[in-house]
Amino acid sequence: MNKASATPERAGQNPDPLRRLGCVADHALLDHHTGQGHPEAAARLEAIYSVLQSDRLRGRWLPIAPRMATPEEILRVHTLRHFRQVEQTAGQDRTHLDADTVTSARSYEVARLAAGAVLESIDFVFGGHCARAFDFIRPPGHHAEPDRAMGFCLFNNVAIGAAYALHHYGLRRILLVDFDVHHGNGTQAAFYDSPEVLFTSAHQFPLYPGTGRSEECGRNGGKGFTLNFPLPAGTDDATYTHLFRSVIEPVAEQYRPELVMVSAGFDAYVDDPLSDMRVTAAGFQTMTRSLARMAEAHSAGKIIFVLEGGYHRQGLCDATLSVLTELLGEEDHQELVWPLHERAARLIETAKRHVSAFWRV
Ligand SMILES: [Zn+2]
Repeated sequence: MNKASATPERAGQNPDPLRRLGCVADHALLDHHTGQGHPEAAARLEAIYSVLQSDRLRGRWLPIAPRMATPEEILRVHTLRHFRQVEQTAGQDRTHLDADTVTSARSYEVARLAAGAVLESIDFVFGGHCARAFDFIRPPGHHAEPDRAMGFCLFNNVAIGAAYALHHYGLRRILLVDFDVHHGNGTQAAFYDSPEVLFTSAHQFPLYPGTGRSEECGRNGGKGFTLNFPLPAGTDDATYTHLFRSVIEPVAEQYRPELVMVSAGFDAYVDDPLSDMRVTAAGFQTMTRSLARMAEAHSAGKIIFVLEGGYHRQGLCDATLSVLTELLGEEDHQELVWPLHERAARLIETAKRHVSAFWRV
């Protein structure tokens, strides 16, 4: 792309609306302090923000300014008891909400801002400013259950976003794909009885938080609208790519989502200190391509990525660059193909068998 187009305004005038990308990148989100040595540190976002301002990406995305989610918006997902518990941490130097979920004086405000960032990006996308958005926010959210904070997460940003889109835009079908290496237990809990959010999670198993077995598939009217893909340590790009293409895409084809949302954690990265998977930046890129394809086919291209985990600085930077390059659609579109090796084939067959109770795959 030439220099003349390198301003947000120009980026917004991209003639192909499907390729318009909005991003939340706000330094106020750094003001949540977890203490020395904690993996969920502000430096994660600082590293990503430096990539967003690099020559490769500067000026190619529309900045989306976050706002604070209101209590009412948060209470669509969380109980009042949980909301008050986080609120009461305001102004206190240090509070432990569980063994590894820590707050500092402004964490409550930052958590409301992170959730509100997702709401603002939904408004951006439905307002026609861009079809694609990536919210680079923290604290992460997908472990936060309706009634409790856990796993570095205070409020469930992506779930609050999905609830807002259902309520505010009258949607009936949201596909929510979680590729963070940990199971999105909080998001699953928020929509376990509902067909309005099809929640699907691919994660290392066993691993924290211990949930996410394939038998967990929804309840009552939500049965078949939670799909879990527990994967063994060492799962690689080939397996993820084929899982997305051969299992999740056919499900999306039948579900016909009106919006695609993604819990995008980059901790399945090969060198991540909190997991043992073997995903590279190219793997995240092909998953993104698959997700964008689902959005283009069903939701007029509308897709919103929400950052979850990812604890290897270089991994975060490389994944961000490859995912955004893919979303901007300006890279030569060579197919990234991984042969379906025997171990991957077995895992895909298992996944298909499980999903076929509810969907044709
Ligand atoms: Zn994670």
